[in-house]
Amino acid sequence: MGKILIIFLTMISFLFSSVEVKELQWPKGETFITFLDKYGIDQKFYFDLEKEDKELCSEINADTWFYLYENENNTLNQVLIPISEEIQIHIYQDENNDYKFQTLPVDYYELSETIALPIKNSVAYDLQEATGDAMLAGQLKSIFKDAVNFRKMQKGDFISINYRIKTLMGRPFGMPVIDAAMVQINGKEYFRFRNLDDDKYYDEKGNGFTKSYFFSIPLTYSRISSHFTTKRYHPVLKRYRAHLGTDFAAPRGRKIFAAADGRVIFVGNKGGYGKTIIIQHSNGYRTLYAHQNRFNPKIKSGLKVKKGDHIGYVGNTGLSSGPHLHLGLYKNGVAVNPLKVIKKPNTKSLEGPKKVAFINSIKQLKNELISETQKENPNLPTKMDRLTYKNDLEI
Ligand SMILES: [Zn+2]
Repeated sequence: MGKILIIFLTMISFLFSSVEVKELQWPKGETFITFLDKYGIDQKFYFDLEKEDKELCSEINADTWFYLYENENNTLNQVLIPISEEIQIHIYQDENNDYKFQTLPVDYYELSETIALPIKNSVAYDLQEATGDAMLAGQLKSIFKDAVNFRKMQKGDFISINYRIKTLMGRPFGMPVIDAAMVQINGKEYFRFRNLDDDKYYDEKGNGFTKSYFFSIPLTYSRISSHFTTKRYHPVLKRYRAHLGTDFAAPRGRKIFAAADGRVIFVGNKGGYGKTIIIQHSNGYRTLYAHQNRFNPKIKSGLKVKKGDHIGYVGNTGLSSGPHLHLGLYKNGVAVNPLKVIKKPNTKSLEGPKKVAFINSIKQLKNELISETQKENPNLPTKMDRLTYKNDLEI
């Protein structure tokens, strides 16, 4: 641990102090192998990596900002490539100038704030103008889905949110997270709070709204050969490990089925993932099926599929140690644990001690949302006014 931290801190310190560190965007079409070739690093370096690490190298997204430090003779000294919100690949030269691979936690800053906005143009426009983040409006809409029609919002209506956003080297990084939100339309308030316990949204009374997603396990498998981990320190290997999916061991040729309804958006080879299909589902979910032996020839990019449709066959393509299906699940581009979503129970309202704990936990945030809105709009009814109004309604 000590050594890794020292290397990491050294990396960070020269990132900040030296002008020789390049900030680059990962080019479209660049693969991990073509990147190594550019720097004259033998492909053996890649082929000697562990299975999980090879898969991580296939997770690098085009346009990702990464940080690179070259030696004087333009050979690679070190490079840091973020591959998720939590981890990054670090390739560096050791004291013998041999290249080494490790995964490190991403050293991001997280900003949290509560803001209230009167609607002037549209929710999307006003929210982006106030926060600089283009993704918040979509998230806000998704957590109020079915309850609030944002198109009906008018001047004089309000939104108030408490959100967190990560920044890396001064740039917004990853997805913002809304912890609490209030929408006020025509004087009526709607609340949503994220429950830390199950990562779902509830209103101020603990009523649930998050729809369940009916993903099914896409094959009959022998066993799970590797579980999902975003960032885990391995005490024996003394390094960080990550595996952004679930590996299901199964015989070669076993049929693979779509885990849910959706549209096929990728059919082809994807680096260490080998023959891969990606399906886009509703609500920002994507599933990825890697290492296939072959595809069902009917499956083409753009095709709509139903849950349970046969899409391909288990194989060993790409870099895989034996026939298995690597299933990746992404929510708005962020890898999440497939088993957690598959096993997620149907959404119900909170009850008993969980409800009490939730209602206690949101008190402060709820007051913040209301007080921020009142700062923006001194004409807003006071708490007492609202209570009276609500009582009137109930009579
Ligand atoms: Zn895997």
